[in-house]
Amino acid sequence: MLVRDKLFIGGRWVAPSTPETIDVHNAGTGEVMGRVPAGAAKDMDAAVAAARSALDAWSSKEPSFRAELLEKISAGLKARADELAKTIAQEVGMPLKMASRIQAGLPIANFSNYSKILRDFSFETRVGNSVVVREPVGVVGAITPWNYPLHQIALKVAPALAAGCTVVLKPSEVAPFNAFILAEVMEAAGLPAGVFNLVTGTGAAAGEALVRHPGVDMISFTGSTRAGKRISELASQTVKRVALELGGKSASVVLDDADLAAAVKGTVNGCYLNSGQTCTALTRLLVSEKQYPEAAKIAAEVAKGFTVGDPLAETTKLGPLTSQAQLERVRSYIRKGIEEGAELLAGGPDSPEGAPKGGYYVKPTVFGKVKNSMTIAQEEIFGPVLSIIPYKDEEDAVRIANDTPYGLAGAVWSKDEARAQRVARRIRAGQIDINGGAFNMNAPFGGFKQSGHGREAGVYGLEEFLEYKSLQLKG
Ligand code: NAD
Repeated sequence: MLVRDKLFIGGRWVAPSTPETIDVHNAGTGEVMGRVPAGAAKDMDAAVAAARSALDAWSSKEPSFRAELLEKISAGLKARADELAKTIAQEVGMPLKMASRIQAGLPIANFSNYSKILRDFSFETRVGNSVVVREPVGVVGAITPWNYPLHQIALKVAPALAAGCTVVLKPSEVAPFNAFILAEVMEAAGLPAGVFNLVTGTGAAAGEALVRHPGVDMISFTGSTRAGKRISELASQTVKRVALELGGKSASVVLDDADLAAAVKGTVNGCYLNSGQTCTALTRLLVSEKQYPEAAKIAAEVAKGFTVGDPLAETTKLGPLTSQAQLERVRSYIRKGIEEGAELLAGGPDSPEGAPKGGYYVKPTVFGKVKNSMTIAQEEIFGPVLSIIPYKDEEDAVRIANDTPYGLAGAVWSKDEARAQRVARRIRAGQIDINGGAFNMNAPFGGFKQSGHGREAGVYGLEEFLEYKSLQLKG
């Protein structure tokens, strides 16, 4: 049992202001794997005060000083990579091998990458008679989700620290243990007191207290569109800067000259990554009417190859969902798809045979003949559920791809790369993979439309945490 009973504030592990705690469940077994403090407004006051008082000294350090610490943090995380991967595999349910590469590997890489970006970044330029300087936005409140918990934290905390900001982190209450490991790593790396502070708690209590706090200059949020809207409303009262990374309903557009088998396989993999609990999941597969029967057959076969099981078992390809709430939500969407008349090609709402008892397991599911107006094609399910939507021609495919409130990601497949790029440019979304092009940690990541605003990753992510200032010179 993992029990954390302290918060990290002002460089010390301190007792929370209330005795309340939050149970954290093991996704693979459903059992309580530990508990963390349910931080309250008073704890946020202390954390924000610590971050404020550390701001001047931290922001006036040489960038090379901050860069060195970021590199140390990366090394500290690397030394604890196995523990991180195992913890997150249990909190979230991602199969261990993949968790080690993605859930532990990406944060390690991002802290190190921001050290490099910072060393090369120029904090001032000359424009006519002005010197334009970039200054840290100030105290940052970071609020993060559970699906890629430490990756989402790293994409905020690493660039914020690089920029010279100080941070109060409110991680997801569903997968919080990785954040405690990060705080220990920060402490061991010798980060000055108050530069990074950790307060766990619920969104309604700890999260809202952070968003409302007048001592916070910016909220960087990743999570649901529902919470993003609420956060925007609350933050407007103190005119805070807000960056939002929200949900998605991404289309994978398979043009009629694509390698169909590779495109369908790539899409199913992109849909089922982390049991479909990925904001960029390719949940809508758009194929031409003529190729629909073949595409449906391939997708169903690929789905059936996703062995469901314990995230710690070697043979598992599809781990459980993260929580009981997720399980109920995903099953109800699968039932809704059937009710609305989509054709069930693989999976379904029942428990997968042979899955371990107690965990939050669901069958890898494929729906065919989906209309884009159906609920399963419009709403983010956040589970391993693929909708195949036939289109008439390229124009129709672009129209369907854009017919969603979201605009986070997408994919285009074609043997003709120029054609694929043309179609990709017409899709209103923040990143489009062409023929399975790889994830690039230096490319901007973020959404159009109701997928949010602001960009994370690479130099774009650093710029989010900077203000411009112009110094007009006389001579
Ligand atoms: P969530 O919105 O329920 O919670 C996210 C975080 O916000 C948690 O820390 C939670 O405690 C906090 N929170 C909730 N309500 C709040 C409020 N009123 N005020 C302040 N804080 C509040 O989301 P989740 O269930 O943890 O994550 C899943 C969602 O995140 C999905 O919609 C997914 O698409 C999205 N997501 C987006 C990205 C991206 O980069 N675009 C990445 C990962 C996940």
